[in-house]
Amino acid sequence: MLSVILPAYNEEGNIDVAYEKIRSVLVPEHIDFELVFVNDGSRDRTFQEIRSLSERVKEGRIVGLSFSRNFGKEAAIFSGLAHATGDVCVVMDCDMQHPPEKLIEMYRLWEQGYEIIEGVKGYRGRESIFYKGFAKLFYSLISKSTGIEMYRSSDFKMLDRKVVDEYTSLTERNIFFRALSAWLGYKRITVEFDVQERVSGTTKWSIRSLVKYAVGSITSFTTAPMQLITILGFLFLAFAVVLGAQSLVKWFAGNALEGFTTVILLLLITGSLIMMSLGIIGYYLARIYEEIKGRPRCIVDEIVSSEKG
Ligand code: UDP
Ligand code: MG
Repeated sequence: MLSVILPAYNEEGNIDVAYEKIRSVLVPEHIDFELVFVNDGSRDRTFQEIRSLSERVKEGRIVGLSFSRNFGKEAAIFSGLAHATGDVCVVMDCDMQHPPEKLIEMYRLWEQGYEIIEGVKGYRGRESIFYKGFAKLFYSLISKSTGIEMYRSSDFKMLDRKVVDEYTSLTERNIFFRALSAWLGYKRITVEFDVQERVSGTTKWSIRSLVKYAVGSITSFTTAPMQLITILGFLFLAFAVVLGAQSLVKWFAGNALEGFTTVILLLLITGSLIMMSLGIIGYYLARIYEEIKGRPRCIVDEIVSSEKG
């Protein structure tokens, strides 16, 4: 059986559409399926829609999880995977920006023995210039520091049961799903897809949440920024040695009062570098603090299923 995990945050208009589309793709191919909707603390009627869908479906199985508040897409993906029962699971957006038609191609690849089938973005869809630039910068940072090509990657992935079990048994709280599949290894293959227009509603990302997501995922996946501080420190030391030598020479030559600008500049530069570095270390400290608290990733408040009992 194929489990489709659909994180949903304020997607009341997309629940029925998603089911209909996925059903119409899978049923003709005789693929047995379940949909696992994860209501990520929506403020609209998303969960009522999921519940009513679960009460009336005839084909396929519906599971609906509801979080006690908004925990974010990563938590929704994790929880969805943890509650899925299929031999193979796929994560896709509930707004149908990930085309369901691709499921067949991915499923066939899974049947051929691939364990991670990753959707990569061909056409990225309509995005603002700001968003595109931001995404480029963010992914080039990640790619450089981890060695994983990320710009075209997405959360649209199909995972074998083995991979799902491995993934859900990871104990870390802050996971970055997109990059983690590369870390997991296994037999992987990519499938290109074009990002579709949203069916209804608007994107859930604000600039603030995007920045938070970017910083969060970088710090959860790589410690490169901290190593960068050390490198910067060494560069600055070299600079200081040169400048120190120059000042000493000047002092011996008897014209030492000059160079006041240099002092001011140095103060400003070191000051800001130190503060930035402290900030970066702070992020990692916060991460450690969060991990060590060992809180659950999310709180599942309610579960509905199309199968009674
Ligand atoms: N989503 C979620 N929790 C959030 C934000 C988003 O579960 O806090 C879901 C959302 O319902 C959708 C998917 O993640 O199914 C992708 O979100 P969205 O379409 O807003 O992002 P975009 O496609 O614009 O990158
Ligand atoms: Mg979307």
